[in-house]
Amino acid sequence: MTRSPVWHPFTQHALQPDATLIARGEGAWLETSDGRRILDGISSWWVVTHGHRHPRIVAAIKSQIDLLDQVIFAGFTHEPAERLAGELLQIAPGLSHVFYTDSGSTSVEVALKMALGYWRNIGHPRSRIVALEHGYHGDTIGTMSAGARGVFNAAYEPLLFDVSRLPFPHAGQEQATLDALEAACRTENPAALIVEPLILGAGGMLMYAPHVLAEMARICATHGVLLIADEVMTGWGRTGRMLACEHAQVVPDILCLAKGITGGSLPLAVTLCKASIFDAHHSADRARTFYHSSSYTANPVACAAALANIEIWKTEPVEQRLSAIAGMHQAGLERLSQLPGFSDARQLGTVAAIDVKVNNPGYLADIGPRLYAALIERDVLLRPLGNTIYVMPPYCVTVEDLDRVYSAIADAVQAFD
Ligand SMILES: *Cc1c(COP(=O)(O)O)cnc(C)c1O
Repeated sequence: MTRSPVWHPFTQHALQPDATLIARGEGAWLETSDGRRILDGISSWWVVTHGHRHPRIVAAIKSQIDLLDQVIFAGFTHEPAERLAGELLQIAPGLSHVFYTDSGSTSVEVALKMALGYWRNIGHPRSRIVALEHGYHGDTIGTMSAGARGVFNAAYEPLLFDVSRLPFPHAGQEQATLDALEAACRTENPAALIVEPLILGAGGMLMYAPHVLAEMARICATHGVLLIADEVMTGWGRTGRMLACEHAQVVPDILCLAKGITGGSLPLAVTLCKASIFDAHHSADRARTFYHSSSYTANPVACAAALANIEIWKTEPVEQRLSAIAGMHQAGLERLSQLPGFSDARQLGTVAAIDVKVNNPGYLADIGPRLYAALIERDVLLRPLGNTIYVMPPYCVTVEDLDRVYSAIADAVQAFD
């Protein structure tokens, strides 16, 4: 067989085996063409919420494609985008406008541009961005700049802009984070603080308390610094609430949503903002226009899928599913915590994480790929972040499914030494 010409994301082709060919997806399961079934324990990179091919989303996609596939979104609009914007503003009360894009990274780029545009248009240009240590906001140049630096972006470092970094608010050390934010607000004239609310995903499923988020929002408001909530991962129920900001009763100035917005079926993203930010761009002066567009902005089929996703939230017992998963995670983590080799179990809503103790530091570099392989051998798809194993399943996952996941983790780690 000739090697595939496909260059896969985050994949070292010299070291990793050929990609597994997936032919079907259903609910929480992926299926290869030869009938092997693999449990999708990470919702296919955090996007699938209600399960693969939810009938309601599939039906919405099919009926929209027969009406309108795509239309330029400058000078034109369409019903799915108009209706979806209305629904989104009900989900995020306090925000007034919806800007459409097509990926989480782009929604964050738009958020940063909105923030800088706001300051420039009101006549007080500001450009400094404040961000959290270990944060992740995407893989474009701007979002990498706001995110943590490391091996993943070392080659691009010369192009990345400098940001002010707050220490991560580890339990018991929250005040240091808040003090650093306060100092940055007072002395650096920042345009915005960008945070992943309550869970830093790619940074290692690091969790912090809602009161810290509330306090960060208060400090920003006091100093007139814009708060950007990057809920690309935490949105759509992952933390047990529709939005993670709800846990802290925080209304950000700018909100980024993507991943689960279409239930994980099609690419779509939005950046929502407060009226003040829209108003700063609203002018007879063309120079104040918000100059941003993606070719597929507000694709009608993707918008129809997102409307179906919201309909599922309204008509199915989604909240019950979230709390059931939270309960199953607690039991699973308790089980693992009793075994040697695990530490730092943590959980919020449908996201569970635990660290694997590493005795031989030589293992550290490749423990992620080794765990991945050991789990996939057991037909469970998880993608450990270094020595952190996390489980983030679609909401249709069953007790039996999660039982299998936790048994596979216990097995795989114990087979290690
Ligand atoms: C995944 C993610 C992004 C980037 O989203 P893409 O759709 O992959 O571009 C941005 N922010 C957070 C918090 C994410 O988890």
